Amino acid sequence: MDRYQGTLFREGWKIWNGQHKLTNLDKHYLHEAIHGPRVKDWWIRHGRIQPEAMQQIDWALVGPAMRRMTFPRRKWLTKHVSANCGVGETLVQWGVLIDADCPRCGESESTEHVIRCPSPSAKEQWKKSLTKLEKWMKKLTALPQMWSAILVNLER
Ligand SMILES: [Zn+2]
Repeated sequence: MDRYQGTLFREGWKIWNGQHKLTNLDKHYLHEAIHGPRVKDWWIRHGRIQPEAMQQIDWALVGPAMRRMTFPRRKWLTKHVSANCGVGETLVQWGVLIDADCPRCGESESTEHVIRCPSPSAKEQWKKSLTKLEKWMKKLTALPQMWSAILVNLER
């Protein structure tokens, strides 16, 4: 039996998700369908994320998790992970600085470097943050194996 593909009464236009016709206006789906592939392609072309890593991200979980954050936090996170923020390497690309040196240790400052800076003051702050994260995860009664694995990976 063929599926009816014409318009319904007073239906001006229709949108399809593969084989399924959308029956309501799902703004999140439409935004992702229109902008998602272009954004992901840009991230890969500019070396912001490896194609293999793109396949490992659970995008269905990322969306709801992002929507739970405050807008400023979401904005900061998006800029940081896409390296579209005021770190040395980006400021050099934008022509604002002539070198990308980290003010703490002198190595080239990327967004990843901000997290992994080997300077004593940065390491001390990282350790304090991990302690705070551990307390928060324990308070949530998350699975001990889960928070232990998270902490072990962050301590590397
Ligand atoms: Zn540094």
